[in-house]
Amino acid sequence: MERLLKGMQRFKDTVFHEKQSFFQSLSEGQNPRALFITCSDSRVVPTLITQTEPGELFVLRNAGNIIPPYLASNGGEEATIEYAIGVLHVKHIIVCGHSSCGAIDHLLSGEVDHSDNHIVSQWLAYAESAKQITEALEPDNNEQRLELTIRNNVRMQLKHIETYPCVAKAIAKKELDLHGWYYCMETGDIDVFINTSVNTATA
Ligand SMILES: [Zn+2]
Repeated sequence: MERLLKGMQRFKDTVFHEKQSFFQSLSEGQNPRALFITCSDSRVVPTLITQTEPGELFVLRNAGNIIPPYLASNGGEEATIEYAIGVLHVKHIIVCGHSSCGAIDHLLSGEVDHSDNHIVSQWLAYAESAKQITEALEPDNNEQRLELTIRNNVRMQLKHIETYPCVAKAIAKKELDLHGWYYCMETGDIDVFINTSVNTATA
């Protein structure tokens, strides 16, 4: 905790001090470029891997970058998506999976069935289809199985997002693009493997 407290002070004394007018301007409101949905994993830092500033990304994070279908859980994910589309009018939704994802690894190993992980197990059930699609494709080894499932999970969660009426409406009006990314932490590469492209120029 000491490291975090020192970091807070250093932020105020250096980063904030040097860009004080910029940070103060943020208090006037936000107009983010995109809703960025990714895993809670500490090794994935959205603003770092996209080199964006405060105010540019509206971020939603959870274990496995999972979005339950509309009305399936009535939780924070639904509220965040409705706010991003209905109030902030974001033009892009990005779902970004990542290599070595522990959530997807748990999904594949079945270790989430232990009673201590009851809620984790329920949560990862929203990604079960991704696992089944991967098994149907008969990957050669566990490494390939994990990457395929991470990618299939991104694809599946984007399908869930399309079940939200506000999202479906914005897509129909050509006001919203959906994107699927795979971030490889070993190489720093981001593979943009899904891109509906209507508003790419405004990203
Ligand atoms: Zn993860």
